[in-house]
Amino acid sequence: MGAFKAWVIEKAEGGQSLAFRDFDEADFMEGDVTVRVTHSTLNYKDGLALTGRSPVVRRFPMIPGIDFSGVVEASGHPEYRPGDAVVLTGWGVGETHLGAFAQKARVKGDWLVPLPKGLTPAQAMAVGTAGYTAMLALMALDAHGVKPADGPALVTGASGGVGSVAVALLAKAGWHVIASTGRAEESDYLQGLGAAEILDRNELAKPGRPLGKERWAAAIDAVGSATLANVLSMTKSDGAVAACGLAQGMDLPTSVAPFILRGVSLLGINSVTTPQPKRREAWARIALDLDLEKLAAMTKTVKLEEVGRLGEAILDGGVRGRTVVEVG
Ligand code: NDP
Repeated sequence: MGAFKAWVIEKAEGGQSLAFRDFDEADFMEGDVTVRVTHSTLNYKDGLALTGRSPVVRRFPMIPGIDFSGVVEASGHPEYRPGDAVVLTGWGVGETHLGAFAQKARVKGDWLVPLPKGLTPAQAMAVGTAGYTAMLALMALDAHGVKPADGPALVTGASGGVGSVAVALLAKAGWHVIASTGRAEESDYLQGLGAAEILDRNELAKPGRPLGKERWAAAIDAVGSATLANVLSMTKSDGAVAACGLAQGMDLPTSVAPFILRGVSLLGINSVTTPQPKRREAWARIALDLDLEKLAAMTKTVKLEEVGRLGEAILDGGVRGRTVVEVG
């Protein structure tokens, strides 16, 4: 069995330790496909795992990293053969199953999707879990039936990974996009992605009234907590809010008023265990609808060796857009 380089989290006295070291294939967990990882990314959840700030890692030792693209090296799964280009997001990889910040990964073939046509492995990871989640949110809004003609769409946490892709996708779909951000200096960046208006996130951050002035027909929220409560209270009648994140907090200090007095819908988004058909539909739509120039504008690239120092930065809101991790 060969050894490969990986970031490894060990349980240590009073917390956890993180090291970039050799990892032996003999210590892989169960799986029927071995992948040579070429790219991964940095997501908010990776920040939680790398720093140990929240207990997302449920098994030790753990290789963190919740998503990757790469090339199949060995497969016992009927759908995949050596040489196939594949993408993985979610399924507990990097949390309960050895993850992506490594030169190799062994996973269940049922978790993989073929690399979507039209995307390179690097572009697929520029999208990554964050961008794929933004697409799931857009699909949820579409399924609800809310349309650009109904009013503006709000994106919270707009400068972050989910937010940046959400702004680009909503703008492409014809929405008047309001981007809520704490980073006024990123206004030009957000307008470049398609935002028509910038909103200071402080306007939404503190507990507000059960019902406010109706300002948007739809929203994609990456922030949670009082922000999500205010987003709901300012959503137009029969509008919808797709909730996917908790960058401000896990709580939701709201009332039933937006639901029972305005018919507002709260749509939950969970990207981790999305069934295959919806997963593939989301990736196909991304390949079709996401402007690759905008994707490039929101992406920077780091080497695998650099990942260890980036966990704090993303949790502190210091990372703009998407970060691709070059592994190969
Ligand atoms: P990022 O860190 O890239 O983006 C989060 C953004 O939220 C920041 O850039 C910042 O945007 C804003 N933000 C940060 N802290 C606060 C705060 N205290 N109050 C208000 N806004 C804040 O993370 P990701 O885009 O990777 O993930 C966003 C969220 O979505 C995370 O909570 C993540 O766990 C969740 N997520 C959920 C998934 C699911 O399946 N449901 C899948 C993927 C992500 P700005 O500076 O513009 O204000």
